[in-house]
Amino acid sequence: MRTLVVEDEPTLQAQLAEALAAAGYVADCADNGVDAHFLGDSEAYDAVILDLGLPRMDGITVLKKWRAAGRTMPVLILTARDSWHEKVAGIDAGADDYLSKPFHMEELLARLRALIRRAGGHASAEIACGPLTLDTRAGRATLDGQTMTLTSHEFRVLAYLMHHLGEIVSRTDLVEHIYAQDFDRDSNTVEVFIARLRKKLPPDMIETVRGLGYRLVAPDGNK
Ligand code: CA
Repeated sequence: MRTLVVEDEPTLQAQLAEALAAAGYVADCADNGVDAHFLGDSEAYDAVILDLGLPRMDGITVLKKWRAAGRTMPVLILTARDSWHEKVAGIDAGADDYLSKPFHMEELLARLRALIRRAGGHASAEIACGPLTLDTRAGRATLDGQTMTLTSHEFRVLAYLMHHLGEIVSRTDLVEHIYAQDFDRDSNTVEVFIARLRKKLPPDMIETVRGLGYRLVAPDGNK
């Protein structure tokens, strides 16, 4: 899952990026509204954390522009303490959730997980596919109850497929959602991660849909 962190306060931005990386997300960062708008408009994010008080373009304007352009990714806004009017303006502008500063990182991560789950149509913190379970809280995958040993990239590929169960996910989708913006992206590496995951999963769980991409399905068609 790939996230965008928009925060102009350097220490908080670094803390957010670090916490997201530790939780298994890729995080791109922006410290002003203009760069944030460009990134959110041109890149594929599974969720955005958006501070409202930003240089060059304020967060509400950024959010309104995204929504007007049809960008539907979940957005969690960060508002000043006790500023109820910012929350109202943010929600009216298309925010999915908000947190007031200062906040606990654990709460932010919990809200982010919930937003990403709901965007994928999953009501529960655990997503299951046959013997495979993704625990979005722990950032862990289990197979037949055993925790799978996965590299960070393998985990990201698997987590993205789990959030899009039964759907065809293209190689481009995977590249866009497992790498940060400034990473040297090589779509061939996706095939490598898929091949490694296949060795760790029951046969045929990751289908190749010729010319289109991959699809994660339960073995024997079980849910
Ligand atoms: Ca700010």
